[in-house]
Amino acid sequence: KEHAQNYTFQTEVNRMMKLIINSLYRNKEIFLRELISNGSDALDKIRLLSLTDRDVLETNSDLSIRIKAEPEKRLLHIIDSGIGMSRNELINNLGTIAKSGTAEFLSKMQDAEKSEAQEMNDMIGQFGVGFYSAFLVADKVTVVSKNNADKQHVWESDANAFSVAEDPRGDTLKRGTHITLHVKEEAADYLQPDTIRNLVKKYSQFINFPIYLWASRTETVEEPDADADADDKDADDDAQVEDAADDKGDAKKTEKTVWDWELMNDNKPIWTRKPSEVKDDEYTSFYKSLTKDTSPQLAKAHFVAEGEVTFRALLFVPRVQPADSFNRYGTKTDHIKLYVRRVFITDEFNDLMPNYLAFIQGIVDSDDLPLNVSRETLQQHKLIKIIKKKLVRKVLDMLKKIPDTEYDSFWKEYSTNIKLGVIEDPSNRSRLAKLLRFHSSRGDSMTFLADYVERMKPNQNHIYYIAGSSRAEVEKSPFAERLVRRGYEVLYLTEAVDEYCLSSLPEYDGKKFQNIAKEIFDLEENDQQKERLEAYKKQFEPLTTWLGNKLSTWVTRCVVSRRLDRSPAALAATAFGWTGNMERLALSNAH
Ligand code: ADP
Ligand code: MG
Repeated sequence: KEHAQNYTFQTEVNRMMKLIINSLYRNKEIFLRELISNGSDALDKIRLLSLTDRDVLETNSDLSIRIKAEPEKRLLHIIDSGIGMSRNELINNLGTIAKSGTAEFLSKMQDAEKSEAQEMNDMIGQFGVGFYSAFLVADKVTVVSKNNADKQHVWESDANAFSVAEDPRGDTLKRGTHITLHVKEEAADYLQPDTIRNLVKKYSQFINFPIYLWASRTETVEEPDADADADDKDADDDAQVEDAADDKGDAKKTEKTVWDWELMNDNKPIWTRKPSEVKDDEYTSFYKSLTKDTSPQLAKAHFVAEGEVTFRALLFVPRVQPADSFNRYGTKTDHIKLYVRRVFITDEFNDLMPNYLAFIQGIVDSDDLPLNVSRETLQQHKLIKIIKKKLVRKVLDMLKKIPDTEYDSFWKEYSTNIKLGVIEDPSNRSRLAKLLRFHSSRGDSMTFLADYVERMKPNQNHIYYIAGSSRAEVEKSPFAERLVRRGYEVLYLTEAVDEYCLSSLPEYDGKKFQNIAKEIFDLEENDQQKERLEAYKKQFEPLTTWLGNKLSTWVTRCVVSRRLDRSPAALAATAFGWTGNMERLALSNAH
């Protein structure tokens, strides 16, 4: 057989390994999560292939992950029957970093190296750091892999370089990957069954394939006769039984140490269970393992949609969204994993949530979508549109139901998303409008539009608002002063997106919005007031005409106004013109 061929790691891999080793030494345990997750990905891949080509499973129809520790040899084995890797895949996948995501992670990590340790830990938690985390606990890693298209190969590395050779033992794995960690002395605890069980529970309990641990248990069995072993009906092929000394003499009680594959996870997908039967802390753990977020979700929705299309969904609102979400706005659109009949299809479909709801995390599992289609044809599938539409409705319901006590944190994090939604999603505009909150002249707390409308004065037909760069600025505005003094409430719009948002919202609850920095502005008046205004107009006509001519380069016209209180004059926008605030925003965007 051939000699092992030696290879060097790509420079980025070396950087990645250094980073992992230097920054994760307090967090070594995540190596198991990463290796299990790779096993699960490999199982997803072969299962997906098997949908269009059943024969691929002929090599091995068992789809599982198995963990076996040999403490005395300090070896930890993680074995999956997934798709496996060919020789070239071993070299490329475990020797280079192909994904742009990892490159992005690398550069972020390098920035983070200069910042807080805590920040760094949070970031690591959120990224999958991948295969190389194996070197956190191992000084040597051996990967034996068998892919349907190639012979079995052995990849081996001490983290400095690696070698690949055809396996001299032949194709001992029917299909899949067998990783052996040569565990460092200081990491020997990871060879203990309890430690492994706890880690699987903590990080991998929601993996959708069975995860087994090779473990022993002691059984005391009362046996009618000495040949009982032969009748043991459910003894697995693999199970090993060691008879211990029978110290009870003729009582025929035997202590047995039974070695067998012990199932460590409940691999029935949580979203296929009845919502009424899933406990809150199960949702929370699932959310954490799905997103790697360390805080619990802010809200969740779990439902079955029926009708034109049947699907199940489990959706979550995280407490925070990544800090650079708006820089990437519209580039990668969602965080929804798409399953079809329990089979994972893709998490890069990106067409199940609109941009403004890209922060929603979750799972959609459809019974009606075809399994054997590419992502491109799936995108065209008419059912996708229906699913998306229903998902958005459900998300908006979920947001509407966020209790008052949590709404502040929701709004602090996601107000811009909702306002962009009002602008970008006409079909859900009125639903989104119910989620909007603004500051107002009424006090320090923010108000929903519904509450504003409830407080409107009997003669008031419009929802008044003014936009500017800060509360202090709009509070002082000459446009607001008289209204506020007369007891009208004015919404204070102080975020850049606010004025765009309300300009695209024609009305709320039948009430039109009135930007009070604009010209058309009827303070509903009685006849007497109207007469007085007419008289003033006449009286001041020489002044308004003169001023209008004098300032004609800058203003359309000069009029007598009833809207001012202490200020002598104010510059208002025309009904369809831009307000000063919009001009300011346009200018600052241009720079
Ligand atoms: P990621 O899982 O994010 O792609 P990893 O560093 O964890 O990154 O793994 C790198 C690549 O190595 C994977 O994308 C996959 O192609 C391959 N790989 C790793 N582990 C396995 C495995 N158990 N079976 C098959 N392929 C694997
Ligand atoms: Mg991985």
